[in-house]
Amino acid sequence: MELYIHIPFCIRKCVYCDFLSAPADMETIAHYMECMEKQLVREAASFQGKIIDTVFIGGGTPSILKPEQLSRLLAAVQERFTLAAGAEITLEANPGTLTRTKAEALKAGGVNRVSLGLQSANERELRLLGRVHTYRDFLRSYELLREAGIVNINVDLMSALPGQTASSYEKTLLRVLALHPAHISAYSLMIEEGTPFFEQYREDEKLREDGGTPRWLPGEESERAMYELTGVLLAEHGYERYEISNYAKKGFACRHNIGYWTGEAYLGLGLGASSYIEGIRFCNTSELDEYLSGDFAPRDVQKLSKNDRMAEFFYLGLRMSAGVSKADFIAQFGLRAEQVYMQEIPELIGSGLLEDTGARYRLTDYGRDVSNQVLWRFLLG
Ligand code: SF4
Repeated sequence: MELYIHIPFCIRKCVYCDFLSAPADMETIAHYMECMEKQLVREAASFQGKIIDTVFIGGGTPSILKPEQLSRLLAAVQERFTLAAGAEITLEANPGTLTRTKAEALKAGGVNRVSLGLQSANERELRLLGRVHTYRDFLRSYELLREAGIVNINVDLMSALPGQTASSYEKTLLRVLALHPAHISAYSLMIEEGTPFFEQYREDEKLREDGGTPRWLPGEESERAMYELTGVLLAEHGYERYEISNYAKKGFACRHNIGYWTGEAYLGLGLGASSYIEGIRFCNTSELDEYLSGDFAPRDVQKLSKNDRMAEFFYLGLRMSAGVSKADFIAQFGLRAEQVYMQEIPELIGSGLLEDTGARYRLTDYGRDVSNQVLWRFLLG
């Protein structure tokens, strides 16, 4: 079982971000942490005896917390839940918010993996994204983590930014590769509704989708060049692409994310956090006032039907390079995948998008490149 903890605070809102996160004053953050601890204690009591394999403290910017708040949260997790020996404990951090004391508090509290949101090594691009840090801040944060003894570091990167060229993206990749992080996540920028970027670039994005030449966003060809460059350069530097957008050195794939893609149960604590327990999905309130008043009642409770679960098995499982196991499908659902997807599987194999390895189904390289067009085929009814 997995544990997710949401810290919904950031120094400032990035202009492309639609995550559940916002700036807040110290008092609100302190109050939130008190409420979070109450929820943690309550939930831990109902999960006695369950072994937690991975913990992911995400946000927002969890590294915005004070060292003593981080230590207290980590101590509560260790004390109240039963963690597996060698459990993976990840904290998301943003450059510029880490100090030596915080890095040491993380290490002492059991954090063994940190995900650093760099996005770009180019100062112009960082400013454009509304990030609060510079590349130098990132280098300092990276160094502090290493000095504190945290070696499993992920670096988050983004491509297809307005004004970005394949050459500036390559410089970012090379700068990051020179540090040899254990893990790199590389996503294309999504223009999300409700963000300042949406107001600014939605027309441009539509133009690109319609095959025109966008004014600010990279064109389709340039976007593809960046996507391909990621795969080639990271493979050359010894990273295994284990999921569509995730690359790791041997032994450093993110266990928490793999659990999510393989249908592991997870408990979410904190504002808006989702849980998935025994086939039932639910989430906490997304209203900060409600959460701060101690309202932890589950929202949007949904019992997944067998069809939903089979679809998710494929939809999420095929994101991983290893693909989905035929035997696991039978064990979970009592049916062979070919019986359920009797039309889709042969068609996708025939179009060169899916391959049958004998024990598993997985996307081909081509299928991975156009994964959005493939994965929806598994949504049943
Ligand atoms: S730091 Fe991350 S969560 Fe916070 S606003 Fe920026 S992108 Fe969103």
